[in-house]
Amino acid sequence: MSLNKCLIGAHTSTAGGLHNALLEGVTIGATTIQMFTTNQKQWKGRILTDDIINLWKKTVDETGINRVMSHDSYLINLGSPNEEMLIKSRQAFQEEIKRCIDLDLTFLNFHPGASLDCEASHCLDKIIESILLNERLLEKSELVILLEATAGQGSSVGHRFEQLAHIIEGVGKKVRLGVCIDTCHIFAAGYDIRTPEAWDKTLKEFDKVVGLEHLYAFHVNDSAKPFASRVDRHANLGEGLIGWDSFKFLMTDPRTRSLPKYLETPGGVPHWTIEIQKLKELADPV
Ligand SMILES: [Zn+2]
Ligand SMILES: [Zn+2]
Repeated sequence: MSLNKCLIGAHTSTAGGLHNALLEGVTIGATTIQMFTTNQKQWKGRILTDDIINLWKKTVDETGINRVMSHDSYLINLGSPNEEMLIKSRQAFQEEIKRCIDLDLTFLNFHPGASLDCEASHCLDKIIESILLNERLLEKSELVILLEATAGQGSSVGHRFEQLAHIIEGVGKKVRLGVCIDTCHIFAAGYDIRTPEAWDKTLKEFDKVVGLEHLYAFHVNDSAKPFASRVDRHANLGEGLIGWDSFKFLMTDPRTRSLPKYLETPGGVPHWTIEIQKLKELADPV
């Protein structure tokens, strides 16, 4: 695969305007980016005016950045046992989908949910219901919504491949729904990816339980916390407990090399520039 065909980027900043996330992408040598379409810590979502949308689309054309992924708000819990929170979450999620469609984004990545003090199975079923509420809205676009594989911190669900599969099966073919694997999260959740054998075993396990046809993208992060710790703490690539070997498998394995990849590592622009360069070199060694 040629260097410029690699789809690699990072979660860039929208400070000063949404289109700035694309410009920051260019600065770090990215070919794709992830971003927040609104303040991820507030319920009240950003209203997209025609000016904002037009500037966004113009900048997409100028930069050539594509397959843009939105990461939804951290407040949203589509499986909340609390009725009021569930209603708020469903509304915010629907508004997020609308923003993604208005901006012509490729993916909307979201944390499946958290069961809090209830059964995980109830949480999973609420998530399926929440997703299906958007069936008609999603019909009008090409947007693919992606369950993020989680580390299983606290009561968050989606850390077992079986849980992701349960949601995908429950939703069926009515909605374009897939999975984004976060390398840090699955490692912390207890899926080893550090050796060629472990990497292969984990991908085979994913294929058996969920199906590789449902895998659309990766969050590329090293882990500051140990294997199976179920604690979500990102580290810079090669500086955590996963290590560079694993990222080489990611960039070269025919099952994963062509999928879009987004860094969420600490340190911002200077670190991402180096990490993207290294990942590209692993994909296509000179
Ligand atoms: Zn996330
Ligand atoms: Zn994380």
